[in-house]
Amino acid sequence: MGILAHIDAGKTSLTERLLYVSGRIRSPGDIDEGTTLTDYLEVERERGITVKAAAANLDWARPQGSLPGRRLRINLIDTPGHVDFSSEVGRSLRALDGALVLICAVAGVQSRTEVLYRACLRRGIARLAFVNKMDRRGASFERALGDFLGHLDPKAAAIQIPWGEGEAFRGVIDLVELRAYDFKAEGEELRRPVAQALPPELEARAYAARASLAEALAGAIADDEAAELIDEGSAGSSVLGDFVAGRESGPEALKAALRAAVISGRLTPLLCGSAFSNGSATLLLDAVADYLPSPAEARRPEAVDPATGASLVLGPGDSFSGLVFKTSGDPHFGRLSWLRVRSGRLAEGDRVLDAGAGKLVRISRIFGIQADRLEAVGSAEDGDIVALALGGSGVGATGATFCDPKRPILYESISFEDAVVSLALEPKSREDGAKLREGAAALADEDPSIRLSEDPQTGRIELSGMGELHLEVAASRLARDFGARFRLGKPRVAYRELLSGQATVTESFDRDLGGERGRATVRLSVGPGAGARGLDFSAAANLRAAPSLIEAARRGAEAALSVGPSSGFPLDGAKILLESLALPGGSISSSTKIGERAVEIAASLAAGRALREAGSRVVEPVMSIEVEVAEDFLGAAAAAISGRGGRIESIESGPTAVSLVTGAAPLRCLFGFAGELRSVTEGRAEYAAHFLRFEPVPASAGIL
Ligand code: GDP
Ligand code: MG
Repeated sequence: MGILAHIDAGKTSLTERLLYVSGRIRSPGDIDEGTTLTDYLEVERERGITVKAAAANLDWARPQGSLPGRRLRINLIDTPGHVDFSSEVGRSLRALDGALVLICAVAGVQSRTEVLYRACLRRGIARLAFVNKMDRRGASFERALGDFLGHLDPKAAAIQIPWGEGEAFRGVIDLVELRAYDFKAEGEELRRPVAQALPPELEARAYAARASLAEALAGAIADDEAAELIDEGSAGSSVLGDFVAGRESGPEALKAALRAAVISGRLTPLLCGSAFSNGSATLLLDAVADYLPSPAEARRPEAVDPATGASLVLGPGDSFSGLVFKTSGDPHFGRLSWLRVRSGRLAEGDRVLDAGAGKLVRISRIFGIQADRLEAVGSAEDGDIVALALGGSGVGATGATFCDPKRPILYESISFEDAVVSLALEPKSREDGAKLREGAAALADEDPSIRLSEDPQTGRIELSGMGELHLEVAASRLARDFGARFRLGKPRVAYRELLSGQATVTESFDRDLGGERGRATVRLSVGPGAGARGLDFSAAANLRAAPSLIEAARRGAEAALSVGPSSGFPLDGAKILLESLALPGGSISSSTKIGERAVEIAASLAAGRALREAGSRVVEPVMSIEVEVAEDFLGAAAAAISGRGGRIESIESGPTAVSLVTGAAPLRCLFGFAGELRSVTEGRAEYAAHFLRFEPVPASAGIL
């Protein structure tokens, strides 16, 4: 399961507490002191924010008489909340069966939570929600619940309500068992919270909330399909009939019904508490065990048979398959591929197929992941999250499917977000240049949303990524983890050029190349690509030329197309078709070194001329922006957005005295906007921006 929410909702603190109450760690660390298990990078400890997804696992045994009444292994993924790291979260979603969605009891549902929640719905990931920070001043469970139902999902219901709020928070009422838990009565040592009778002053509220739960559950099972699912469940259909008709049976029957509704994605139960409370974390793990699906019950992703294109779904008993959802760099093992096993079993020594790359690889080491520690496990099965050390074998990139070579399949690959901001790093010495290059390559490998370009003359490296924070964090890791010293440029917008037309060109090259005559003629066409990303080179189907000559033409053409003809920004989304090749005085079915050199140069000349003839336009990233602002400062926030050339698309007032302003603005207008907004709203606004699309830069922008 993944722990998902907006930044600062308490994901890392809660992960820490869950690991502690399960006995996985001896004492819970503290975000504010930089001592948590999952925020182990220096930058994370220093800044108190999570920048990468971290995995850990714990074992949990349910108290007697409970469903499903056995020992469970729970694989956890703590994710970053800041929008700059959203591509890391998107990748992690692919490994999940269940999600624990945190809502801050003070701030309510925030923008990132909304985006992530929708992604869970899309992927059929079962959900539990936890209203965290009930112990903070200003906490309100009612408001958080209203916000959840209104903004995220009407198919949700509380299964706990708080006993006291803010400074008076002392425990929760479990609506399923109709029992109270007093966390304040907990001693220093770690013990299960003890159930007690409802405090009389909360009885009326508890029964009312339980009635809402019953109503929501009845709504969820009104659906035939869900009813069927429940019929097959251990509790039997009469339970639900009884429950809905008010002849409800005991808590176990209610749990069974709830479990079926959660697994089928028809209901999201809400719990509440505090990441600082052991009792809270204990009840939360019980709920995870009670309601979230085991790998065998979770919705399985579709795969494709690459030979026939037919779609299929592999189950636990089928042949081995798994998806690499993330990679990381390890000082001893080099690249580690993080694999979610999706079916069957994998053991050390097995030979598996990287189905996308079409390469076989022998799995020599399989590790369990406990934050920054690896534990040799030897084998893995359906539901496990493990790291594979594959050496420099060139397989196992993010998005790769591994499977049994006898049963090749492909899971949907993982796509990467567009880079919108770039940052130049100037090494201080030659030695720093080498460290910088090595480090930047390692970071880009670990995080495919970072793109890299290098000026070989000066050693200057340009990183492009999803936002200022994303790149700042990358730069501080280069300095710290790789010991590179460099001067840092200012973050800049990652402009690109797109071809505006198509051109076909023939160029010949005929010159002396180091004492030998090099001669070649190349004809190629260049035009806008279908997908607006990178270059797409192909040779005409009827061209019978030696592969090494075609490869030489590709090198030449791609070098000429690396930057656009208008302003020298990187060119994106171009299609190159090599139409014909001639080596005057030689055959093109075999090749020589001199022939390849000449073809490469001729192709580069042809592509360069075609590029100028086709022409290009400069495009810039436009961001969608969301500002949450206290109503008193709505005018000031709106003026700040318009002042930056942004357009406002909607203004919504929320359940509290907070408005949500959404709109769009070119990224170039948004540098420093967070600071401006903070000052004009006296700190009463929250701001998030994410990439929307590339749009042509207007001449008035003055950058062309
Ligand atoms: P994340 O960004 O979602 O991982 O959130 P963190 O775990 O880093 O927590 C953000 C801040 O909220 C830290 O200062 C935590 O100490 C604090 N915090 C987290 N959970 C709670 C809680 O339940 N109660 C209170 N009072 N503070 C919390
Ligand atoms: Mg965190």
